[in-house]
Parts: sequence; C-alpha cells; structure tokens
Amino acid sequence: MHVAIIGNGVTGVSAAIRIRQLQPDWKITMISGESDYHYSRPALMYIFMGHMRYQDTKPYENSFWELNKIDLLRDWVTEIDTQNKQLKLHKNSSLNFDKLLIATGSKSNKFGWPGQDLDGVQGLYDLMDLKLLYENCKGAKNAVIVGGGLIGVEFAEMLHSRNIHPTFLVREKSYWNNVLPKEESEMVNKLIRKQGLGLKLETELKEIVDNGNGRVKGVITDKDEFIDCEVVGLTAGVSPNIDLAKESSINTGKGILVDWGFRTNETDIFAAGDCAEIIKEGEERNLLQQVWYTGKMQGKVAGESISGLENTTYDPGIWYNSAKFLDLEYQTYGMIMPKAKDSEEHLFWEHENNLHAIRIVTENGSVTGINVMGLRYKHKVCESWIREKRSLEYVFDNLKEANFDPEFYTRFEEDIIRKFKKEQAA
Ligand SMILES: Cc1cc2nc3c(=O)[nH]c(=O)nc-3n(C[C@H](O)[C@H](O)[C@H](O)COP(=O)(O)OP(=O)(O)OC[C@H]3O[C@@H](n4cnc5c(N)ncnc54)[C@H](O)[C@@H]3O)c2cc1C
Repeated sequence: MHVAIIGNGVTGVSAAIRIRQLQPDWKITMISGESDYHYSRPALMYIFMGHMRYQDTKPYENSFWELNKIDLLRDWVTEIDTQNKQLKLHKNSSLNFDKLLIATGSKSNKFGWPGQDLDGVQGLYDLMDLKLLYENCKGAKNAVIVGGGLIGVEFAEMLHSRNIHPTFLVREKSYWNNVLPKEESEMVNKLIRKQGLGLKLETELKEIVDNGNGRVKGVITDKDEFIDCEVVGLTAGVSPNIDLAKESSINTGKGILVDWGFRTNETDIFAAGDCAEIIKEGEERNLLQQVWYTGKMQGKVAGESISGLENTTYDPGIWYNSAKFLDLEYQTYGMIMPKAKDSEEHLFWEHENNLHAIRIVTENGSVTGINVMGLRYKHKVCESWIREKRSLEYVFDNLKEANFDPEFYTRFEEDIIRKFKKEQAA
C-alpha cells in the first residue's frame, strides 16, 4: 500500500506520523514544493526578526523521516489523476498512489486590485514570501498593509522591526471587529496607534501605483488619498488552497469537501487541514478551520481514516486560538462572536492602561467563552470550565489558579472579580 501526501505542513506531517504508527509496513511519500522538511509556519515572523533561525523552526531532526520510513519528495504536484490514481509532478514525471491525502493548506487572498502583481507587492504565507520580503525591504521606508487580522499585524511588526513604517488599510470600523468584540478590537486600535503605526479605518485599497518600472510607488485608497510606499502587504485573509482539487473530479466548495473522517467524494482520496471543508449535514454552514492546532488534530484523524481505523470521526472540541497583536497576547476559548447573542451575558474587565483585559461569556448560567488579552491563562483550565459547563461562581473561585503569567507579573484577578461581582449585583 502506498500513501501519498501532498503538503508537509502540520496536517500532512501529523497524518504521516499517525499512519506510520498504525501501519508500520505501508509506504508513505510526503510531497512539498515549498521546503525539503517540515517547519513551523507561525514562526515565519521570528525568522525575519532574527529571533529564531530557520533550522530552529523544524520540530523534527532531519533524520526523523528516514528513521520512520517517511519518504520526502521536494516537488510541486501539477495534477491529480483520480481515475488512474496518479499525481503529475513539475520536476519528476509522475507518482502512483493507492491512497492520497491532500493537505495543501491555504493561499493569501487577492481581490483583483489594479497593480496587485507589481514588484514590491506580496502576501505573507510561505518561505517564498519570506525570501521575497528580504528583497522588497531593501531600501524601503514606508509600507501599506491591506487588511487587518492576525497575519496583517505580524507583517506590520516585521516591517517595523526594520524601521519601515507600515500603515494599515482596514475596511472595517475597528481592527478585526468581524472577529473581536468591540472592546478587544478597540484595544488593538489603540495599541497600533500607540506604537506609532498608521491605521486607516473604514478605508479600502483602490489601486496600487506603478513607479514606471513595474515596481510599486504608492497606493490610492477609496478616499482618493495617495500613500507613498515601497512595499505593499496583501493580508486580506486566506482561502483554502483547492487549486489541484478544482481541476479534478474531487468536489469542492470554499474548501475540499470532506466528511468527518476527511474522505472526499473520490474513494481513497482524503483532504484535511486548512484546505478542507467539513460537510455539516443539515446545517447552513460547513466547517472550515485554518489554524495550527486544528491542522494537527485533523491530520491525526485523517491518518487514522486512511489507515482503515473503523469509526474514526473528527471531534473539533472547544474552539481555541492564541495570537499576538504586537505586544498584546490574545487567547480565545469557545465561540465568542463580535456581537453578544440575546441569550448570553458578557462580563468584560479592562485595565485602565488598555493592555490587559478579560471577557467571560455565560449562557444559561454556564461559562461558554473566555477572551483574554495581555494576560496568560492555562489552556487546559479554561477549556475544562467550558466543557464542564462551570458556573461563574466556580470560575471566580478558581480564576487566580488559571493565571500562568510569570512569577513577578502583577496579578489582576482580585480587581476583575470585584468588578464582575459588582456588575452582577447591579
Ligand atoms: C504568517 C502566518 C502566521 C500564522 N500564525 C499562526 C498562529 O500563530 N497560530 C495558529 O494557530 N495558526 C497560525 N497560522 C496558520 C497556520 O500556520 C495554518 O493553519 C497551518 O499551517 C495549516 O497547516 P496545513 O498543513 O493544513 O497547511 P500548510 O501549513 O499551508 O501546508 C501546506 C503545504 O502544502 C504544500 N503544497 C501546496 N500545494 C502544493 C502542490 N501543488 N504541490 C506540492 N506541495 C504543495 C505547501 O507548499 C505547504 O508546504 C499562521 C499562518 C501564517 C501564514
């Protein structure tokens, strides 16, 4: 049995390792056009800022793959022939498979802006983008970042670390307010401005202007304002990379359509991670998950499905994400929508310095969501409160123990609980 895996990101790798555990004798080939070895994509910014070397972002020693009999192939897949179970490759001719996992990740969105293909204009997704950024930053003084979100703020921080002044163009009224509730979103606005970065809200990109030599010299916004810049970062979100599947008989929607065992409509072909869209029968919206830990979990379950483990189904568990807005660390547990539902009660505490905050959401007396900004709480503890449907009283009693900020950091739990209790009593 030969399993081919397209993509050596966290999803492909987690699947390969699981298959090897369950099927010691199967042949596994993992193909990637981007890199010889798996590395941590979220660490791209740290490589650029000099905090980590590329080799430190590889979670496994190079010898790991040979020891585990996982063959690595550096190439781009150009076509999936589902009928003949064959992959067409860019450098090598082709590769036959018995089972296939597509784990091709995401792609940076481009919306057909005039000038989007000029030199100096780029997304931030992979090592090719990183290499391009080193070039594009040479001699640059100003940059424009199109779109808010998590990758946009990382891009800005990277540029700022090289004394390039970034200005965000954000379509919304407030930073990432299609995801963050108003207060958290405003904290990010304040921080961006406090750190001296440009932030233009309710502003969209109209055109990227050519300097006459095919390179960007500035952008024009929908307010007809010209902004001088030598670099433009396109960070208006990512979309599942379904290029290969779209050109084949594999069904796609926004992502590659799969069931809860990551099976596509084609026998022996699976898809998981950022590129997959899990069909939620009878529901309006399917499930797309585009973060690191879900890629890891999905890859593991896909590996079990591929290996033939019976009754394997993916359990997305309780939603969790963590990120950083410049210096502001952010953790979210459960599904907290930007606008509270009528059935929810939201308690929100923010320090007057705008650098620390916590939101606790309850529904029918049980905790359903927690947002933390500028504080560090233990993942396992917060997740268990939601899973075990704990009451607010229980959370208040245990809030101090959930904090795992370093020893000499100021603790705010007493303040937080005092405010929340006062609000509840009112
Ligand atoms: C800059 C940045 C920062 C991020 N930070 C965070 C974070 O802090 N926390 C978090 O949870 N998530 C973060 N993410 C998201 C996270 O990295 C992704 O969710 C995760 O990498 C998805 O894993 P994946 O294996 O599904 O896909 P990917 O990691 O995208 O891997 C897909 C692989 O498939 C390869 N591939 C694609 N097409 C082909 C082809 N035709 N032929 C051969 N190979 C192909 C690609 O080259 C790539 O190596 C970040 C993403 C980016 C871009």
